[in-house]
Amino acid sequence: MLRAIYPGSFDPVTYGHLDIIRRSCKIVDELVVGVLNNNAKMPLFSVEERVKMLEEATKDLTNVRIVPFHGLLIDFARQMDAFVIIRGLRAITDFEYELQIAQSNRKVAPEIDTVFLTTSIEYAYLSSSIVKEYARYGVDVTQFVPIEVVDRIKEKYNRAF
Ligand code: ADP
Repeated sequence: MLRAIYPGSFDPVTYGHLDIIRRSCKIVDELVVGVLNNNAKMPLFSVEERVKMLEEATKDLTNVRIVPFHGLLIDFARQMDAFVIIRGLRAITDFEYELQIAQSNRKVAPEIDTVFLTTSIEYAYLSSSIVKEYARYGVDVTQFVPIEVVDRIKEKYNRAF
């Protein structure tokens, strides 16, 4: 049974994240999407809201579980009995950061490996930050995130786009 963790902030989940989730689900037996609860990052959405949006967006997938976590990713992976971490790679900037994290994680947790999936080209530019920035100024974000997420962003920013 191959279980992997796909960790992130998902503040909020985008079509870029969902693409990685769908592709991972075809590779592993069970995918645990780990939603980082880190208030220092000052997220727009609470961890409960982020979990809910991910659950709604993945409800058609049978081998996904959405689980909030805080603290070290390697501790969470061990707790979940998962020895594979999945990360998405968009550009060179992602690569440098991700390489450092993956290598240091292997130093302290050699039994855990990180696997990278490269972004689908149509989502290469997409990030949660860009979605929030557009939404804050009233730009319609329906091409970037699922409709349930659009509605929640509208509520947050009190916008009608
Ligand atoms: P973090 O706060 O750790 O950067 P994110 O929620 O932004 O977490 O992203 C979680 C993971 O999803 C990361 O591996 C990130 O590289 C990946 N990711 C985010 N957006 C995309 C995208 N458009 N295409 C592919 N991977 C993506």
